[in-house]
Amino acid sequence: MKKLSPRLAFVNQSECVACGSCMDVCPRGAVSVWRGSFAVVDEGLCVGCGQCAKECPASVIEIRPRLSRTAAEEKIA
Ligand code: SF4
Ligand code: SF4
Repeated sequence: MKKLSPRLAFVNQSECVACGSCMDVCPRGAVSVWRGSFAVVDEGLCVGCGQCAKECPASVIEIRPRLSRTAAEEKIA
């Protein structure tokens, strides 16, 4: 099974201006702009490199620790 990176890009979608810069610089093709509205990160492809966050003109991307399955389940519970 593929090992996932410990960090991941998160987009504040309500502040995203859908410019597509993050999509252009992502080396993994992990970002897409959904219906011209906001950026969406494919969590399975993102390696947390931070390129997108550096390029975002609106500064709405943060690189954060990826939640482990257990932590994610605890959050839901
Ligand atoms: S952190 Fe890197 S791999 Fe992940 S979406 Fe941004 S540019 Fe792509
Ligand atoms: S670079 Fe920033 S503002 Fe532009 S689409 Fe990506 S997240 Fe949205």
